[in-house]
Amino acid sequence: MNNKYIYETHLHTSEGSACGRACASDIVRAYKNAGYTGIIITDHFFYGNTAADRKLPWNEWVESFCKGYENAYEEGKKAGLQVFFGWESGYNGTEFLVYGLDKKWLLEHPEIRDADIPEQYALVHEAGGMVIHAHPFREAGYIPEIRLFPEYVDGVETINASHSGTLAKSRCMGHPEFNDYATLYATDHHLAQTAGSDQHSTEMVYGGMVFNRRLADIHDYIRAVLDREAVELLDGTRNPFVE
Ligand SMILES: [Zn+2]
Ligand SMILES: [Zn+2]
Repeated sequence: MNNKYIYETHLHTSEGSACGRACASDIVRAYKNAGYTGIIITDHFFYGNTAADRKLPWNEWVESFCKGYENAYEEGKKAGLQVFFGWESGYNGTEFLVYGLDKKWLLEHPEIRDADIPEQYALVHEAGGMVIHAHPFREAGYIPEIRLFPEYVDGVETINASHSGTLAKSRCMGHPEFNDYATLYATDHHLAQTAGSDQHSTEMVYGGMVFNRRLADIHDYIRAVLDREAVELLDGTRNPFVE
């Protein structure tokens, strides 16, 4: 375990996601106790399963949406866990993890709410962010069809530990082939790859990405992903902190 820095890249809080089953501060403590170096909060965005009231004016919606991250950040400062911000956008079941922007950017860019997939990519890129296709080959009731957009993403979440993991209970588990297809897809299109747990509780799924160094911030994470710096993508079939 020495000299390994493990980051969770796909995680939902009950403050930000309607399906979140644990609050941000409990999640931070669980990840700290498990041994993670950092986590990225990726709550469901406006047209996903957001917990923030869609009837609110944009400014208030953003404030409400960011609560999960903000609470996690405060708790992380106390606990000694890095906490970065992202979100998971939803397009009728097709989902993307967006990294590298912040609350200030959201407040200044209400057009992100109704952006289509090419517009999302353009807006996020213009601001220096990164778009990752989340679990592109997941089959589930809320996903009417598998749709691929290789020209509008920087990378693919090839390992979603809630598909392949055996250490935690997950609705999507028992389908490591969803990850295998995603890996073939990313490889074929020379797209960067990420791994995350799709965490919705405090029960460790043991997904995430292993780096040889501590990441400075979310922009450093983006660089590390695009530079293919991860030394391992964790699939949740083993506890990476025990070896
Ligand atoms: Zn969810
Ligand atoms: Zn998710």
